[in-house]
Amino acid sequence: MKTVATLEPLTTRLLEIQRINSAASVLSWDQETYMPAGGGEARAEQIAVLQGIAHEKLVSQDVESLLSQWVDPATGQATDTAGDAWDEPSRSLLREVWRDFSRAKKLPSDFVVQLSRECSLAQQVWVEAKEKNQFTKFLPNLRTVLDLKREEARYLGYQGSPYNALLDVYEPGATIAGLQPVFAALKTRLVPLLQRITQSRVQINDGILHHSYDQTRQLEFGRLVLTAMGYDFERGRLDLSAHPFTTSFHPTDVRVTTRVHEQELQSCLFSCIHEGGHGLYDQGLDQQYFGTPLGDSVSLGIHESQSRLWENCVGRSRPFWRFFFPILQQTFRDQLHGITIEQFYGAINRVQPSLIRVEADELTYNLHIMLRFEIEQDLIEGKTQPEDLPAIWNQKMKEYLGIVPPTDAEGVLQDVHWSFGAFGYFPTYTLGNLYSIQFFEQAMRELPNLEDEIATGQLMGLRRWLEQKIHRWGRMFTPAHLAERVTGSTINPEPFLNYAEKKYGELYQL
Ligand code: ZN
Repeated sequence: MKTVATLEPLTTRLLEIQRINSAASVLSWDQETYMPAGGGEARAEQIAVLQGIAHEKLVSQDVESLLSQWVDPATGQATDTAGDAWDEPSRSLLREVWRDFSRAKKLPSDFVVQLSRECSLAQQVWVEAKEKNQFTKFLPNLRTVLDLKREEARYLGYQGSPYNALLDVYEPGATIAGLQPVFAALKTRLVPLLQRITQSRVQINDGILHHSYDQTRQLEFGRLVLTAMGYDFERGRLDLSAHPFTTSFHPTDVRVTTRVHEQELQSCLFSCIHEGGHGLYDQGLDQQYFGTPLGDSVSLGIHESQSRLWENCVGRSRPFWRFFFPILQQTFRDQLHGITIEQFYGAINRVQPSLIRVEADELTYNLHIMLRFEIEQDLIEGKTQPEDLPAIWNQKMKEYLGIVPPTDAEGVLQDVHWSFGAFGYFPTYTLGNLYSIQFFEQAMRELPNLEDEIATGQLMGLRRWLEQKIHRWGRMFTPAHLAERVTGSTINPEPFLNYAEKKYGELYQL
């Protein structure tokens, strides 16, 4: 049996590439946290140089000739030699390295440079267009980026729709055909559920979240929750940034960020828990495989499932607040005096159709994603022309959420994704939401005392379960295969829909 040790000449090179990418990530992290505003241009150049070197090393003759000894280019699978087969980690490693290598190799380097330049330009124009609420200002850049993304799909190759090639970048194996029934099921049940909620006689007031809360104390509380979750501060940090994110340089150095607003208690709190979920995944990756796909997270959808599981299944649950609410009340005595857990639970779970995706509740969030999924698919396929976007956006907002943005800045211009060419990224947010419920319900089945543990602030059992079942495997299995191993099922909207109907049916007395 041949093991990963046989692949040492390859893994040594991969490790070097990963170290270059990690260095680029440190620069990006600094850019989002501490870099002075004036450093932007120079920083972009520094990062581009490192990324260029990493890319060159990956598509090098050196790596190609090593891979060609071990992988069948027709299937992308490890080649078996009679009587001396590869073990499972080696097979997975070769399959995944081949995936990265062949994708990188398909894109001509002048195309990569052009795409990166146009995207960075489009992003700058988008910032301005959003500020001035001028969609037409962004339109020419959007056209250019769209053309390039279609070209990228042609280089990568696809079956059916060119959008499939782009989806696969973020969620290996995802296709329109696979996602459409998932979104159709969500639409059929979420839209009427939302209508019943908005017509319910139960009105939830979340005013208590908008008192004045000292920012330092908010951060202290966030840190306390992160520690309870098992986020290791010896191998991580919490800093501030405009948009919360998680980045990892190695499992021993995984950074999370949050933001803090004095009159929005939920903002810092839930972004800490959300990013903590991402952080636990990266801290839980197997160090011995660092640099190889086996030491890397499997997909954006699975990554998001980890953040959503902690944020929603744990952080927006009653058991969690049975333990943490008295502590929060101690921290903010004046603001939370006389407030019951039940009032607080209602406030943090209030459903309200809103214009902005990143501020949406866990229920309407998926409708925001569905709209983007439909639109970007039509854009890539050429069924929708970019100039018609604002009208289409507003019409779909009306249909799914019952509200129409008064401005494009609060509508079609709100997200950065399309400006930097991230078509196919949005669906992974909903995949994460659906997977999170599937995983959490499986954890509940396998850990019968889980609810009691959460209610007494003991979160390590869940953290260990996730590490054993998901984190430590890296890209050993495809996302669909991993979900099936853990829960017995691939992506399935049913558990989420049942959870949503039960939770909000009870909260809004439907
Ligand atoms: Zn996330």
